[in-house]
Amino acid sequence: MFSGLLWCTIAPTIPGSHPAAAGGLWDNCKAMDDVGLIKEKINIVDLISEYLPLKKSGVNFKTNCPFHQEKTASFVVSPERQIWHCFGCQKGGDVFTFLMEKEGMEFKEALEMLAKKTGVTLKKSPDKKDFKDRLFEINLKAQEFFHYILTKHRLGKKALEYLNKRGLTSGTIEEFGIGYAPNSWESLTKFLLKRGYTNQEIIDSGLGVAGRSGSYDRFRGRITFPLFDGKEKLRGFSGRVLSPAEPKYINTPQTAIFDKSNFLFGLNLAKSQIRNKKEVILVEGEMDMIMSYQAGFKNIVASKGTALTEGQIDLIKKYTENITLGFDMDLAGDSASRRGIEMADKAGLNIKVIQLSDGKDAAEVVKADPGIWQKAIEEATPIYDYYLVSTAKRYDSKNPSDLKKIAEELIPVWAKISDDLVRERYIQRLSAFLKTEEKIIRDAIEKARQSFVKSYAGLLKKSNTQDNVVSVRSRRELLEEYLVTLLLHPPQESNFVPNFPETLFLAEKWRQLFVYLVLYLDSISFKSRAFNINDFVLDLPKELLAEVDRLYLIELDGRLIDDKSWKKELEGVVSELKKALIKASLEKLSLEIRNAQEFDKMEVVEVLNKRFRDLSVKLKNL
Ligand SMILES: [Zn+2]
Repeated sequence: MFSGLLWCTIAPTIPGSHPAAAGGLWDNCKAMDDVGLIKEKINIVDLISEYLPLKKSGVNFKTNCPFHQEKTASFVVSPERQIWHCFGCQKGGDVFTFLMEKEGMEFKEALEMLAKKTGVTLKKSPDKKDFKDRLFEINLKAQEFFHYILTKHRLGKKALEYLNKRGLTSGTIEEFGIGYAPNSWESLTKFLLKRGYTNQEIIDSGLGVAGRSGSYDRFRGRITFPLFDGKEKLRGFSGRVLSPAEPKYINTPQTAIFDKSNFLFGLNLAKSQIRNKKEVILVEGEMDMIMSYQAGFKNIVASKGTALTEGQIDLIKKYTENITLGFDMDLAGDSASRRGIEMADKAGLNIKVIQLSDGKDAAEVVKADPGIWQKAIEEATPIYDYYLVSTAKRYDSKNPSDLKKIAEELIPVWAKISDDLVRERYIQRLSAFLKTEEKIIRDAIEKARQSFVKSYAGLLKKSNTQDNVVSVRSRRELLEEYLVTLLLHPPQESNFVPNFPETLFLAEKWRQLFVYLVLYLDSISFKSRAFNINDFVLDLPKELLAEVDRLYLIELDGRLIDDKSWKKELEGVVSELKKALIKASLEKLSLEIRNAQEFDKMEVVEVLNKRFRDLSVKLKNL
């Protein structure tokens, strides 16, 4: 059996594969020898079976996805392609990415683990210290510097007093490694240059900003918080001003080792308590997190923003499914926050919201009275109740036109609730609140859902419905994708070669892929060989490979293994696409005709009219 990256080692000898293309890949392969070797020795089905109960389904295996919550299995493993893909959350990849997702490993760790498992000896990486290692190192040096200034140096005295006044103990300052960046342009830079780091490294780490002569300090006159990740690696800093000023916080910019959207502050200290308590409290700023942690609420992290990112949701999911948001703003009124919550819901997290009175932030509340913070956490509101209350607050529920606005705001949110039971419960709530029949609300929500539920089912049936522009376009996109999917699943005995032009596809990626497919299908039909997915992907560019893998794992209707049904379905899709193309041309023509009429260009009108008639006839005959 062929395994995933086999092209690395075998490609040049596979008969029929394009020698030039294989040669090009061959060069890339030397670096990937270890990866290829490991993939050859391990079967993805065996590996994933160690974690999940896989069930055979056709040529593939299926199970419930471990990365999002679901009741029907949409996690598919292909022994043939040695890949996995989830059709629910769209995650996917090979043995390495599976371990990285499931075990939270870095690529290097996954590589080492699988090397051990398969008995592959990894080639030694070159002696030169890794670029990233240098950045981690320089951060640690800067951390020493900042912390020393705060705790031991006269330049840090005012900052230390400020922190004490805010209620931070010296134990907490030690535990978090808080520091102070003096208000100077070059004190850190000089310190680091003296210890052998270059200006370029100082800039690459984000500690310095490029200036006329080398670099100057990014953090000046700010209290510094070292940004350790969940594995105690120091990825960057955030700096907070002492007196009210804008911006309150600045962070290390995106660097080779820091990405704000994949980071949660305090995770290194809080992770075991998050696991124990089966809940994470999420606050916005470092001070909120630290004050709360100091007061004994240890299952807490700071997100550095109220709009949750996918990376942060993935991090949280490694520890718990219950997330309680403690932000001091109206989440329902902010679309970026709403989107983050939507993603968290889709990822299967249970979300609650802490409600703090009169715009106080967590740090203030905890300092004033930890008991109030405790009570607020205990009384956190489930997110959709919170939406309802917060939206209602902004409108007058006695006014009918305001009720309509509430419905307009909440129906799209309700439509995105991923759990059927939860959605049903909130449909009842909303209908009671709006004093409107449940059915009306349910229908509106169903309609909103239809517009973004993606499915091939019934795609061919509803060609004549008058949809709005958005759904017409998405239907066309779906049809194009479906056509490619069908072509990737020819019945066993098929020797079909498409004879329609690639211009049938509007999407550039499908056009490209289609050309590759036709070339391949033509070559195997000529040699009377059967379709083999691993053969086909040999010459594909990487971006297309990912698309092919996704579509190849789609399980088509069982009838379609029959050559006749398959061809009929294919013809149906092609004719729908042709119709869509002609309809678009007709629309364009009628615009042109109207234009020509307006300027009295009767000859042009006549020509256009004839073209319109011809096209209309063509459309009818399809
Ligand atoms: Zn999934």
